[in-house]
Amino acid sequence: MACNRRRFLRNGLALLSAVPVASALQRTGVGSVLTPSLAHAQVKTALSLEHPQAKALGYVHDASKVDTAKFPKRAGAEGAKQLCSNCQLLVQTDMKVEGEDGTWGKCALFTDGLVNVNGWCNSWVLKAGM
Ligand code: SF4
Repeated sequence: MACNRRRFLRNGLALLSAVPVASALQRTGVGSVLTPSLAHAQVKTALSLEHPQAKALGYVHDASKVDTAKFPKRAGAEGAKQLCSNCQLLVQTDMKVEGEDGTWGKCALFTDGLVNVNGWCNSWVLKAGM
């Protein structure tokens, strides 16, 4: 009986002492290394061209197909240099989309899918330092 009570107290104290450590690790970001995070559940599909915001901004996976009459920002020699790959809003690159060729990345504007590094939209802004 006394042995069970001692074991119960010891296990309870060990559990209680682990809680602040786990939450401290989580706050510092170390916890994300130790535990599965949402990063593992990242979207790995291409952004749909039917996405309302993508449509409104004229996003295309291939910047050479931009309708420059509708989006004159990408017209001309200077416009032709605008790609997702040199856009400030591309926050992560070197990603792959299953079943698609090319290199893809994560745009800060779109959480529902990846953009192609050779894509473009009307929110393009030159990456700092380029
Ligand atoms: S904001 Fe930049 S990275 Fe995002 S889709 Fe538009 S051009 Fe590409």
